[in-house]
Amino acid sequence: MSDSAVTQVPVFDLKRQTQALKPELMAALESVVDGCGFSLGPQVKAFEEEFAAATGAAHVIGVDSGTSALHLALLALGVGPGDEVIVPALTFIATAWAPTYVGATPVFCDVDPVTLCMSPESVASAITDKTKAVICVHLYGQSADLTGLNAVCQEKGVPLIEDAAQAQGALFEDRHVGIDGVMGCFSFYPTKNLGALGDAGALTTNDEALAAELRTLRDHSQKVKYQHHAVGFNYRMAGFQGAVLSVKLRHLGGFNDRRREIAAAYHAGLSGVSELTLPTEVAGRHHVYHQFVCRHPRREALTTALRERGVGTGLHYPRPLHRQPVYEPLGYGVGSFPVSETAADEVFSLPMFPELRDEEVAYVVETVRAVASEV
Ligand SMILES: *Cc1c(COP(=O)(O)O)cnc(C)c1O
Repeated sequence: MSDSAVTQVPVFDLKRQTQALKPELMAALESVVDGCGFSLGPQVKAFEEEFAAATGAAHVIGVDSGTSALHLALLALGVGPGDEVIVPALTFIATAWAPTYVGATPVFCDVDPVTLCMSPESVASAITDKTKAVICVHLYGQSADLTGLNAVCQEKGVPLIEDAAQAQGALFEDRHVGIDGVMGCFSFYPTKNLGALGDAGALTTNDEALAAELRTLRDHSQKVKYQHHAVGFNYRMAGFQGAVLSVKLRHLGGFNDRRREIAAAYHAGLSGVSELTLPTEVAGRHHVYHQFVCRHPRREALTTALRERGVGTGLHYPRPLHRQPVYEPLGYGVGSFPVSETAADEVFSLPMFPELRDEEVAYVVETVRAVASEV
């Protein structure tokens, strides 16, 4: 047993960060109340500029969620019925909603066995003459292979969209994710590395024409007030969210450093545990550990034993998208994407958030070591 009094470690606890930042957050909210810029407005504009500086993107377009960002990305490229969009089989469902929303067909592909991010080889074999876009996901906070993916996409003349919902602060080589593809899509859902106090999202792009199109689409397709030349949407970011995101963006680097510190402690404490696979950091990619995803062949037994000893775990993700009931009509059978399917059976996530205390991290390490030898 450890000397510390820790007996419970939550997989995630949003209260700690929210309470710690409460004075700054309340001041930010108050500035919106005072200025009445409730929908878009000056705080959203300021955040867009700050996020552009942070990512190196020429343009940032604030929207109301990551799901809306992905939808707008495909709309801006004119993707529609009869078109195909390639997405990884192992990701959160919203990546696949985007093609579905525009009436296109999501075409799934497999992931790399080491990073669990979309594999360029799998994309290459899924591209057809109907492919209008590829959406890669920087899964768990680590960049996908942008060199490999861009090579495949450029050879076939297909635009690459980056779903960077889990990767605020992640780098590929020296560049922030979200700027190597034609557009990057970010979510600021409260549990993400950069989380709002509610729903919010953004797109990044270096293409001025696309940026203008995205700004128009998010606000009812009106360049001139009450003039609508195309179907538009109400995907505007709320002023409150822009204001709190500016506050949280100032802390993002520190938060991600702390996530990496916790990940290093997990790596140091858990390497060599029999049958336990730890996440791999690929050279040249700055991993920001949105999740710390391990694998174990007896995942259920291990996570049950951890839960009994007070260690919370997550599942990202227990069922690959081609096996989701909603996509059954697409006809993908078991065995279509073996890497994604095996991963879905084996993955589990350890507690990971910047406010985890060292004693809690130590308790997780000690408990995983203890139960791994029993299951
Ligand atoms: C969270 C997430 C989204 C969706 O973002 P929302 O803001 O919740 O709509 C999309 N893709 C991935 C990979 C995500 O993790």
